[in-house]
Amino acid sequence: MFRLILTATLSLGAAWLLAAPALSQIAQVDPEYTGSDRIEEWSGKRVLVLSPHPDDDVLTSGGTLALLARGGNEIHVVVYTSGNAGSRDPEMTRERLAAIRQGEEIGAMTTLGIPKEHIVFLGYDDGMLEYVDARTLTREIAREIRRVRPDAIFSPDPGVPYVQYHKSDHRAASIIGVDAVRAARWRLYFPELERAGYQAHDVPLLFFYYSATPNYHVDITSVGPLKARAAGHHISQFGPLFEKYDASREDEQRKAQEQYFLERFADENGRFSESFRRSENY
Ligand SMILES: [Zn+2]
Repeated sequence: MFRLILTATLSLGAAWLLAAPALSQIAQVDPEYTGSDRIEEWSGKRVLVLSPHPDDDVLTSGGTLALLARGGNEIHVVVYTSGNAGSRDPEMTRERLAAIRQGEEIGAMTTLGIPKEHIVFLGYDDGMLEYVDARTLTREIAREIRRVRPDAIFSPDPGVPYVQYHKSDHRAASIIGVDAVRAARWRLYFPELERAGYQAHDVPLLFFYYSATPNYHVDITSVGPLKARAAGHHISQFGPLFEKYDASREDEQRKAQEQYFLERFADENGRFSESFRRSENY
C-alpha cells in the first residue's frame, strides 16, 4: 500500500517531490508482512516496549514478549504513567494505587521473563500524559531509546483514525513514541543527550500495538497460559478490586483473573495470537 501511494503521488510532479517529507505521513497502511524475519524467532537481540500504563504491554504483547524472553533476547520496558487514577474505590488514594500498580507491573513482567531491573517507571499521572510538555517527554523517551539501543520497539499505533478516539494517554504515547524514535536517530536532536553519553541510535523496526491496521500476526499459543498468568497480576484493574481494593483477596483475585484472561485471550479453537503493525516506514 505504501509503495502504491508513493508511486501515484510521485507521478503528480515536482511539486509533490518538494513535499517529500510529508509522504511518510500518508504511509498509514503497511502491507501484510510476508518476509522471513520473524521477531518471535529472534535470539540475542534487544527490544524496548513503550507502555502508556502498567498493563498495556502485557495485554497487547505479552505472548510475543514471553517468546522473545524465552529466545534469549534482552527486553526493556518503559511505562509512561503510574496508572494512579485507575480505580473506583472511594477510599483509594493516588499514591497507594501507584504503588499497587507498580507491584502488579513487576509481577506481570517477571512472569513473562523480564527482570524488574529492566523496567523504567516514568511516573507521570494517569490520564494526563497529553498535558506533559511534549519536548520533555520526547527527550526522555529518546534518551531511553539511546540507552537501550533496541533492534525493535513496541509502541501504540499512532495511525489515524483510531487514535482520534483512543484513550488520551494512549494517544499521547503513540505520537511521542514515534517522535522519540526520530529524535533518537538524529544526533543533533537534543544535543545535550549526546553530551551526556547517549549516542544516536537508529531503530530499524517498530511493532505497533493497538493497531487498526495490523499486518503481522504472532502465534503465541505455546505461551498463551503464561500471558494469562502475567496479565492476572493486574488485579486492581479488573473485577471486584477495581471497585473496592481488598488486600486480603489478592491471591484469590489473581487466580480468578488468570482464568478470565485465559478464556478471553483464546480463540474458539483454543489458540492464542497477537497482532501488530510491523513497520519500517515511520
Ligand atoms: Zn492503557
